[in-house]
Amino acid sequence: MITVLRIGHRPARDKRITTHVALTARAFGASSIVIDLHDSQLENTVRSVADRFGGDFQVSSGVNWRRYMDESIAVKVHLTMYGIPVDRCIDSIREDVARKGNLVIAVGAEKVPGDIYEMVDYNVSVTNQPHSEVAALAIFLDRYNRGTELSARFEGKMEVIPKARGKEIRNRIGNSITTKKPKRKD
Ligand code: SAM
Repeated sequence: MITVLRIGHRPARDKRITTHVALTARAFGASSIVIDLHDSQLENTVRSVADRFGGDFQVSSGVNWRRYMDESIAVKVHLTMYGIPVDRCIDSIREDVARKGNLVIAVGAEKVPGDIYEMVDYNVSVTNQPHSEVAALAIFLDRYNRGTELSARFEGKMEVIPKARGKEIRNRIGNSITTKKPKRKD
C-alpha cells in the first residue's frame, strides 16, 4: 500500500495543485492520499474521478500529519530537492517496503516544517533543482514501480480507448459513450 501525505495544503490557494497531486498519486500507483487541512470540495473532486475512472483510491483530509507520521509503521519518504537522488536510494526503499509492507510519501506545498526531515526514513530528491511536487511524485512513483503502473487497468465505469487521433471513451459494457473524430482539414 502506498499513501501520499500532502503537507501544507491551503484550500484557498492550493486546490488545483493538491488535486493534481491526488490524481497523479492515483494514476501512478498509490492507493490513497492523506491531506493535512480539511477540504471537502477537493475530496469530492478526487472521489468523482475515482468513481468514474475506477480503482479503489481513497482520499481523506483534515488529518494531523505529525500524528499520522508518528503512528505510521510504514517506510517514510519525504520528497525534497535537498535529499538523496532517487536513483541512489530507490532499491533500498523497495527492500524496506518489502519487509514493512507499506510506504508513505510526504510532499510539501510551500515551505515544509523542518522536523519532517528527521521524522522520515529517507529524504529523496528528484534532481536537486526546485520544481513541483506533482513532477517529483510522478517520477518517484514511476521509479518505485519500475514503470509497471503505466499499463495498469482501473476497470472503471469509463475507459479511455487510446487513439492516434480523436477521442473515445467506452462504458463498462464496451459501448462508446463519447466518440469525437478529428476534424477534416480540407
Ligand atoms: N522551497 C520549498 C521547500 O522548502 O520545501 C519547495 C517547495 S516546492 C514548490 C513543493 C514541494 O515539491 C516540496 O515540498 C517537495 O515535496 C517537492 N519538490 C520540489 N522540488 C523537488 C525536487 N527537486 N525533488 C523532490 N521533491 C521536490
